Amino acid sequence: MLRNQLPQVNNRAMAKLEQLMFDNTYARLPDTFYERIAPTPFERPHLVHFNPEGAALIELDVDEAKRPEFVEYWCGKRCLPGSDPIAMLYAGHQFGIYVPQLGDGRAILLGEVRTSRGEKWDLHLKGAGLTRFSRDGDGRAVLRSTIREYLCGEALHGLGIPTTRSLCIIGSDEPVIRETVETGAMLVRLAPSHVRFGTFEVFYYRRQYEHLRLLADYVITHHFPHLARDPDRYVCLLYEVAERTGRLIAKWQAVGWAHGVMNTDNMSILGLTLDYGPFGFMDAFQPSFIPNHSDHHGRYAFQNQPDIGYWNIRAIAQALSPLMNPAEAHQAPEVYETAFSSHYAELMQAKLGLREVHEGDERLRRDLLAILHSNKVDYTLFFRALADFRQDDPQANEPLRAMFSDKSAFDWWAERYRARLKAERSVDTERKIGMHQCNPKYVLRTYLAHQAIQRARVQDYSELDRLLQLLRHPFDEQPEMDAYAAPPPEWAQHLVVSCSS
Ligand code: AMP
Ligand code: MG
Repeated sequence: MLRNQLPQVNNRAMAKLEQLMFDNTYARLPDTFYERIAPTPFERPHLVHFNPEGAALIELDVDEAKRPEFVEYWCGKRCLPGSDPIAMLYAGHQFGIYVPQLGDGRAILLGEVRTSRGEKWDLHLKGAGLTRFSRDGDGRAVLRSTIREYLCGEALHGLGIPTTRSLCIIGSDEPVIRETVETGAMLVRLAPSHVRFGTFEVFYYRRQYEHLRLLADYVITHHFPHLARDPDRYVCLLYEVAERTGRLIAKWQAVGWAHGVMNTDNMSILGLTLDYGPFGFMDAFQPSFIPNHSDHHGRYAFQNQPDIGYWNIRAIAQALSPLMNPAEAHQAPEVYETAFSSHYAELMQAKLGLREVHEGDERLRRDLLAILHSNKVDYTLFFRALADFRQDDPQANEPLRAMFSDKSAFDWWAERYRARLKAERSVDTERKIGMHQCNPKYVLRTYLAHQAIQRARVQDYSELDRLLQLLRHPFDEQPEMDAYAAPPPEWAQHLVVSCSS
């Protein structure tokens, strides 16, 4: 059937499952880059959740989710026509130590779909069973971690942060052993590419420089086509990766989010948030926030993320160094640092509602973070409420002041903030509109995800549904959803997230 005979939604052709147009570019690379392997299906799969926005990305007709075959295709029971399933090879630095072979130990790249817009999307099935790279693992993912990844990908996207996306979750009754016995699930993850820093590292450390070049050429052709004819294309690629990574981490810092496991195998070459594990949004502001219960030394604590980003850029620069002059590779961390710092400053300036840049702004910001920390003020709630700050009505600022146990600390800062706003003739009503567009009211707090998981365990997906709807529009008031903006209730104060998934 021709493209233009397919059903149209918003002038776009929407495909049936069997009509997805595969173009499996990665599977055409030499077979040392992957293992060709089919998923191991669940015996009794069921649909946990379907994301119409994910379907729109790959131009899949949303009604396809109602067909019984839908679940079978996305749990490996049936093979999508045109797909060519592979597990990708990669390595990586885990907690600072080089591990020579990792690879997709429980995820399978079913294939790559081309859309009429010319985009290409990896269909990646996480939890799909054993591969050559499974090491001691069981090849499975549990419902809990799958829901967390599904929700957070959509939540970060809603916040304007580059990330992998998802199409659906398939559940099962297959027992999977973690700290306790849980059930297996599969997540269909979508991204333009799943190439990681570690995909380059594996060829660098094996001294397979021809493969390294091939991979770099592949990434440039498909994802950085504007560099294809550049004589310095490998250097430019490295610097663009550094730039994107710097901007990405700036965005994480500005919303108060920690990835949890920033190993180089979890760093996307496209600068996307990738591989959601024990991540977390901070509630009360705490620079040493460690979302991963197993990260005893806090290597991946919130405040360390910018430095770890720098460390990781050094690792990718090292891996790409055979393709360039070493001095050029050495400059990549600086490119990262500049991109991070300038974007972070820009984002925080916007969060504070400041249009201009004045001397002393950085001090003002640092002092604010210091008092948020010492007063254990909720990060998200504070910035949202700051939009209501009134320059000439101290009474109106009482709710903000009430967030601080040390009122004098707030008064001290608020007076300086007031003077700073006056210095750029800020208009309260105008500033509020802008601040609401960059300070979310709703984020995926750990306890909210936890509640959705508890319900999903008894096959009630209503909370999952509600959260997904809510987090698509994190900057909107959504007054009927006010309760979801609240900091964690007493019972959830000490919820911990382990890295088992
Ligand atoms: P992660 O910590 O999820 O980023 O995974 C690190 C490495 O361990 C990757 O190579 C994964 O594919 C692999 N891995 C994680 N969990 C499992 C599992 N349950 N079975 C097999 N491999 C796994
Ligand atoms: Mg990973």
